[in-house]
Amino acid sequence: MKAQAKPALTLALSKGRIFDETLPLLKAAGIEVLEDPEKSRKLIIGTTNPELQVVLVRASDVPTYVQYGGADLGVTGKDTLIEHGGQGLYQPLDLQIARCRVSVAVRSDFDYASAVRQGSRLKVATKYVGIARDFFAAKGVHVDLIKLYGSMELAPLTGLADAIVDLVSTGNTLKANHLVEVERIMDISSRLVVNQAALKLKQDPIRHLIDVFARTVAARQT
Ligand code: AMP
Repeated sequence: MKAQAKPALTLALSKGRIFDETLPLLKAAGIEVLEDPEKSRKLIIGTTNPELQVVLVRASDVPTYVQYGGADLGVTGKDTLIEHGGQGLYQPLDLQIARCRVSVAVRSDFDYASAVRQGSRLKVATKYVGIARDFFAAKGVHVDLIKLYGSMELAPLTGLADAIVDLVSTGNTLKANHLVEVERIMDISSRLVVNQAALKLKQDPIRHLIDVFARTVAARQT
């Protein structure tokens, strides 16, 4: 049996908001994804464009896949990109999707302002160690950072940490866990990232996708 030719372009996406909010951008380019990742266990999904396939990876792995050429392009949050460092990645476009913010949150009965004023050393749990370190260093607040990979909200509730640095969108998750947002560190949206070698070798199809995405994003702003 003849092996099927590998599509020219591979796009790395993560399941959830980024996948869901990238679909309309692909649609604007006349491309539909052939499987629903919530129903299928496939990690490589074809599209109606035989030249483009989607690979599903963990959100924090998208920059790594694109950096090393496991994917030509990817969509990744600014938070993830900052933690990764962005080496080897061309970042042509803010897609303005999966918008949220990185914030500091504490238990509602914890007096964060006093702790900061008194120069207390804070225990801060987060997945975003780089962002948190830079933020507290700039404020002159001494922190012990505790790296977690998920369910950050639990850390102040169990006494593991005084504060967390996490993504906040509606604020409902914080509220449900009796936490309050005390500082907004930065606004986040997702960006298109491109492997630098792929951009040279596959310039036409990549430029075409960037152009369609850019037009779609611009049309939404008006
Ligand atoms: P919310 O309850 O709407 O404030 O959402 C907060 C929860 O969703 C937290 O667990 C966050 O880590 C996660 N979250 C919010 N926005 C995003 C995003 N853009 N990408 C990934 N996770 C997010």
